[in-house]
Amino acid sequence: MHFDTLALRATHQPDPTTGAVAPSIHLSTTFARNETNELPANFIYTRPNNPTRESLEKAIAMIEGGAVGMAFGSGQAAAMTLFQALRPGDHVLLSTDAYYGTPALLEQVFHPWGLTYTRVDMSDLDAVQSSIHEHTRVVWCETPSNPMLTITDLLTVSRLAHEVGAICVCDNTWATPVLQRPLDLNCDVVMHSTTKYFSGHSDVLGGALVFKHDNDFTKRVRLLQGLSGAVPSPFDCWLVSRGIKTLGVRVRAQSLTAQAVADFLDGHPAVEKVHYPGLADHPDRALIQQQMNGPGAMLSIQIKGDADDALAFMGKLTLFTRATSLGGVESLIEHRASVEGPTSTTPKNLLRISIGLEHAEDLIADLAQALR
Ligand SMILES: *Cc1c(COP(=O)(O)O)cnc(C)c1O
Repeated sequence: MHFDTLALRATHQPDPTTGAVAPSIHLSTTFARNETNELPANFIYTRPNNPTRESLEKAIAMIEGGAVGMAFGSGQAAAMTLFQALRPGDHVLLSTDAYYGTPALLEQVFHPWGLTYTRVDMSDLDAVQSSIHEHTRVVWCETPSNPMLTITDLLTVSRLAHEVGAICVCDNTWATPVLQRPLDLNCDVVMHSTTKYFSGHSDVLGGALVFKHDNDFTKRVRLLQGLSGAVPSPFDCWLVSRGIKTLGVRVRAQSLTAQAVADFLDGHPAVEKVHYPGLADHPDRALIQQQMNGPGAMLSIQIKGDADDALAFMGKLTLFTRATSLGGVESLIEHRASVEGPTSTTPKNLLRISIGLEHAEDLIADLAQALR
C-alpha cells in the first residue's frame, strides 16, 4: 500500500456503535468494571493506556512499519523514556550534529545517573565503528540532522550497532515516514517529535517511539511509559491522529517548495552556503537518493557576513515567521545559535528555515527582497 492510503487506513475507522466517521475523543481517566469485576476492554486507567492514545500508537506503528508504537507528551519525553530503559554503565553513541535537546538530556540527566556517551560524526563510518564498544547499547542517529542537514547511512550504522548487540535508534522527525522509513533500513527504533510534521499545525506538543520488534526492551519501555507517565492527553493524541491524515500531501508539497527555495538561494551572491539534501552538490547525494524518497522541507543557509548580517536579513522578511520549531503549515525562520545559547557550535551566520505551505513564488520573492 502507498503511504497516503496506509495513513488514512491507520487513522480512519468509523465507530461501529455510533457510525461516527470522525473518531471520538475518550477523555475518561478511568474505566468501569462489570458485576464480576471484569473490564469490557483492556483499559483500566489513562496513564498506562487510553483508547484515543492506543489508536494513535497503532497508527504511528503502521505508518513506520513497526510492531509497537508508543506516544509521549513530547519528543523529549520519548527520548527520556528510552534512555531510562538503559542501565548505569551503558554507553550511547550520538552524532555531533543533532537536535540540541538530545545531548542535553544525556549530559544533564543521564550522565549524572551513570550513562556514558560519545559524540561522533555519523557520516564518518570509520569513526562510528571505532567509537562503538562492548558497553554500547544505543546508537542514536538523526538524519537529516539538525541544523547542518548531514546524512547518516542507516543501513551501515545499524549493522555496526548490531555487531556489538546495540540497538540503532533513528530520530526521524525531519524526514517523516513519507520520505524515509528507518525500520526498513534495519534500525530497531524510530523516534519522533510529533510536535512537528505529524501534528503539522504548530498547536500540539507530542512524541513517539516505534519499535520494530515487541521484545524485552520494548516491554521495558512500555512499562516505563506507564510508570513515569510522560504521556499525551487524549485531546493531544486526537490532534496528532488528525495530522497524520494529511501528512503525505503536506510533506510532499512542502518538500517541493523547499527544493525551489534552495535552488533560488544556492548561488545567490549574498548567500555563502545552502545546506539542503536536494542540492546536487550535497556531499551525500548518492546516499540521499538511496535511503530517502525526497529531500524534505528543512534547510539551513549561511548568509555572507556575520551574525548581524544574518539577523538583519531575517528582520526584513515578511512571509516567514521568526520562531523556532518546524514542520507546520507556516514557514518559520530562526537564528539557530541564539536559540541554542552560549554553548552552541552552530555557525553564527546560519539561519534555519522550515518551509510551509505558502506558494513557492511568494516565498522566493520575499527572500529576494530581503537579500537585496
Ligand atoms: C523538536 C525536536 C525534538 C524534540 O521534540 P519536542 O517535541 O520539542 O520535545 C527532537 N528531535 C528533533 C529532530 C526535533 O526537531
